[in-house]
Amino acid sequence: MPSVARTVPVTPPQHAGEVPAISLRGVRKEFPGGVVAVHDLDLDIAEGEFVTLLGPSGSGKTTVLRLIAGFEQPTAGTVLLRDRDVTTAPPFDRDVHTVFQDYALFPHLSVLRNVEYPLRIAKVPRTERRERALAALATVRLEGLADRSTTALSGGQRQRVALARALVNRPAVLLLDEPLGALDLKLREQMQIELKEIQRSSGITFVFVTHDQDEALTLADRTVVFSEGRVEQAGSPQEVYERPASAFVAGFVGTSNVLAGETAGTVLGREGSWSIRPEKITVTAVDREAAAGWSSTVGVVEELVYTGATTRCVVALEAGGVLSALLLNGSGDGAPPLGRGQTVRLSWQPEHEIPLM
Ligand code: ADP
Ligand code: MG
Repeated sequence: MPSVARTVPVTPPQHAGEVPAISLRGVRKEFPGGVVAVHDLDLDIAEGEFVTLLGPSGSGKTTVLRLIAGFEQPTAGTVLLRDRDVTTAPPFDRDVHTVFQDYALFPHLSVLRNVEYPLRIAKVPRTERRERALAALATVRLEGLADRSTTALSGGQRQRVALARALVNRPAVLLLDEPLGALDLKLREQMQIELKEIQRSSGITFVFVTHDQDEALTLADRTVVFSEGRVEQAGSPQEVYERPASAFVAGFVGTSNVLAGETAGTVLGREGSWSIRPEKITVTAVDREAAAGWSSTVGVVEELVYTGATTRCVVALEAGGVLSALLLNGSGDGAPPLGRGQTVRLSWQPEHEIPLM
């Protein structure tokens, strides 16, 4: 599906008038061989904001981080950090720290030495170095492991060491490239909460790359959705989820539930493409009328996917197309038991019909 160029609000709404921590103006990155990884990107990130860059593999997320960090230089456009033009400045001359997915720890150094490393480079005196490194380790709750070798740590602990090393120099901006990718789900969710807390209390601007929509929505003040090197949408997690700007965003963030073409005409009496989120859809017996003012349609239950707290009910519509409804497995409030092959009525409030461009 071709991406549509969209104008990103140049200033994050809540920080109008302030100097942005990061400003990308018309930034384009073309690699040798003609791959355009980033197309003419305009994006401002406010001081102290937690921004997630969300998109599928190859959509240009890492390239954007590398352009901010200075590991790449743009083919065109300008990179500003607190209004300073750093477009051609080397990485060490930017008040930015990057945490890579593989953590890039020094295996021959202890945990403490790893965390001290940036301070050593900055020629911070020994006592202060140690103090600050221990404080950073306390932030990530690893103070007990200061003397351990980094090869004798679990994945989650290694991730924390990388984070402590990133925080020790108190950078203005922290760039994180899928840093939780190697962790199992439980640890990942725990680290997400901790990261959010660290970001809030430190006031550091975080730019966090992920291809995981749950992670992007959980962490962000604002999430920027990328596809093929372009921004599809930028907004709060609620905006992006509840008001996806395109069929791409509707499908990538959350379950794709799109009525289009003839189906939209039959069900909604309107042209175009429309998205309805699964949790907005009510499933009832087919002979029960929909609530006054609600949209409704009829179909056959094709699949029931039980996942503990919820059941996903996939319905093939008589009007063509498929809709998924998400049912909460609550106390059972008199809803009829569902079975595959059963004909049911789906209904929803018209305000949940989201037009897609
Ligand atoms: P993401 O992080 O979203 O997976 P990347 O920013 O790594 O995406 O890559 C965006 C596009 O740029 C991809 O098509 C990738 O193959 C290409 N690309 C990235 N780095 C290079 C490079 N050094 N040389 C050539 N092409 C590259
Ligand atoms: Mg990447």
